[in-house]
Amino acid sequence: MSQITLHTPIEYLKGVGPSKAELLKKELEIFTCHDLLHLFPFRYVDRSKFYKINELSSMEADVQIIGKITKLEEQPGKGRSKRLTGRFEDETGYVELIWFQGARWIKSALKLNQEYVLFGKPSVFNNRYSFAHPELELMADFKASPLQGLQPVYPSTEKLNSRGLNARGLAKLTKTLLPVIKGQIEDFYPEPLRESLNLAPLEASYFETHFPKNLERLEKARYRLKFDEFLFIQLEMVRQKLVHQRDYRGFVFEGLGEKFNKFYEEVLPFELTGAQKRVLKEIRKDLMHGRHMNRLVQGDVGSGKTIVALMCMLMALDNGFQACMMAPTEILANQHYNGIIELTEPLGLEVRLLTGSVKTAERREIHQKLEDGTLDILIGTHALIEDKVKFKNLGLAVVDEQHRFGVAQRAKLWKKNTLPPHVLIMTATPIPRTLAMTAYGNLDISVIDELPPGRKPITTVHRYDTNRLAVFGFLKEEIAKGRQVYIVYPLIEESTAMDYKDLMDGYESVVRAFPRPDYQVSIVHGKMKAADKDLEMQRFAEGKTQIMVATTVIEVGVNVPNASVMIIESSERFGLSQLHQLRGRVGRGAEQSFCILMTGAKLSNDAKTRIKTMVRTNDGFEISEVDMKLRGPGDMMGTRQSGMLNLKIADLLHDGEILQAAKNAVVSILKEDPQLENPKYARLVQVFNAKTKGKLQWGRIS
Ligand code: ADP
Ligand code: MG
Repeated sequence: MSQITLHTPIEYLKGVGPSKAELLKKELEIFTCHDLLHLFPFRYVDRSKFYKINELSSMEADVQIIGKITKLEEQPGKGRSKRLTGRFEDETGYVELIWFQGARWIKSALKLNQEYVLFGKPSVFNNRYSFAHPELELMADFKASPLQGLQPVYPSTEKLNSRGLNARGLAKLTKTLLPVIKGQIEDFYPEPLRESLNLAPLEASYFETHFPKNLERLEKARYRLKFDEFLFIQLEMVRQKLVHQRDYRGFVFEGLGEKFNKFYEEVLPFELTGAQKRVLKEIRKDLMHGRHMNRLVQGDVGSGKTIVALMCMLMALDNGFQACMMAPTEILANQHYNGIIELTEPLGLEVRLLTGSVKTAERREIHQKLEDGTLDILIGTHALIEDKVKFKNLGLAVVDEQHRFGVAQRAKLWKKNTLPPHVLIMTATPIPRTLAMTAYGNLDISVIDELPPGRKPITTVHRYDTNRLAVFGFLKEEIAKGRQVYIVYPLIEESTAMDYKDLMDGYESVVRAFPRPDYQVSIVHGKMKAADKDLEMQRFAEGKTQIMVATTVIEVGVNVPNASVMIIESSERFGLSQLHQLRGRVGRGAEQSFCILMTGAKLSNDAKTRIKTMVRTNDGFEISEVDMKLRGPGDMMGTRQSGMLNLKIADLLHDGEILQAAKNAVVSILKEDPQLENPKYARLVQVFNAKTKGKLQWGRIS
């Protein structure tokens, strides 16, 4: 092989070879030298620092001590195996050494009374510091080794470990790679820009991320690489946004009119919160400027997103347009429909509901009225995006509880007009700001960060299944006070027979504990006919039944203010955002509400964290951060965006400020040169195109 470049297959790097290359591909997806360069250390150990034995503390992660082995003894271990114990001394004291495997071999390899460097994690045993399986290197070898200073620790795997590619082995490979490719990594920022952004040079940043000279340099190097990672994502996102704004004119809503004003002054049953007013203003600004709106409204459960959406729809009507609202389930569509009918009654609007269960005759009538423009607001499920549904002049489409709709489905809405309708998307539960900026950076984002006044925080507790009797006792007290109760069972797939058995067994035991005629129990699940579901929901909403046994079909949006207790069965099986969404079904009235998380006795660590988080806080934004910590951003958003969220060095949990800085940089770069036509950006464009593998050629957008 002639010269090694970043494109060179990894097997040609000195010290790799075909069989290790195979492992690197399988275990770490390292195919080329470029991939190895991008395998970043996940931590560093300071190998320039040496401890004395009398300075040790058990808090230390890894320490390095210079001293001598003064004793080594093989001892009987478990079964036929032998343990090896030893003593390691410096002038300030001694520590114990212990090996549980390989006693004979290790003993023969070590030399007594010679100067060694010991490296390992101290633990306390019998009032003395002890090191299990420490790394020991003769002082003479240590001095000759290139691995000094802050040492990188790379993520390895068991298989790689067993083939000599442990953290130290991987470090040796990168150490080999760097000098070979020196001079090949070209910066892609124009020099003045790099300096004004206070970024370290690119090649140096790679080198210092792998082998930093000191902590300060490491910090600068990592900052640079994280910044770049965010910058390319933001470049794509902001570009999409700009292209969108340029290519898609939107209808101009001249101003507010009779319907909006009448609603605001005479109908609206409460004062809007400051956050609701602010978000309405942001939306109004979009609508009046003739640019197409593509806006995401984030807000916690119960923050009042629906009323904001309704008022936007009224703006559309006032300007001679139709509006629609799409919900992810029939129950929710129904509820929006009923709520909006009630609220807009004094305005005399034509509002209709379109779902899968609407009969053909009515469906035809709806189609007709949509096309001749006599229908003002259409509410529904996916049925709204069927090809047969044609509006005369759809001006605004509201998509509620966004996470269930795909991008493609949303795009279908656009095809319903000459100009695309303005689009307002509402999230079900909050996602961390950094994640929203990354996954939805191509949308404008508004946040409703305030709950309506007078809400009492929901009291959340954790109870084990063995306490069910006491829980039922509590329910009886609450029901006696006139309250209503949800009992939710996990039906993750809504398909397996097993799950339904749990639900039905649960229902039967509830009916036994709460017998008729004193109690009425409803049940709702995904296998029921839509009409039956509605009927049961209706009975519960009207207070005819006190207990609603349900699956997560009631997860989103359902609003029964008199229901004040939410029991979640097998709550360890739910994800955090689902738990928070379910809990949001209570706490909607004036009464103190409760959420009781039932679990079995055995809980995984993650499940414990989820339950503790729910008990600790009602704040959806805080919960979403914990969720991201547990699941990672890719998982949290589902598979669609996970490719983009596959960050190698940046971290959405901790690097929010770097993300913001990268976004600011992108905005100002594109403001100055929207097409990146200036030759000074040629290299940047080239790297961008390479990163997106030609799928998103920058040049092609004009
Ligand atoms: P979400 O944001 O979860 O969709 P909703 O829009 O369903 O929340 O609103 C929750 C409840 O709060 C509804 O009953 C709604 O009427 C009420 N609400 C909304 N805004 C206000 C407000 N400014 N003051 C008082 N109640 C409000
Ligand atoms: Mg809602």
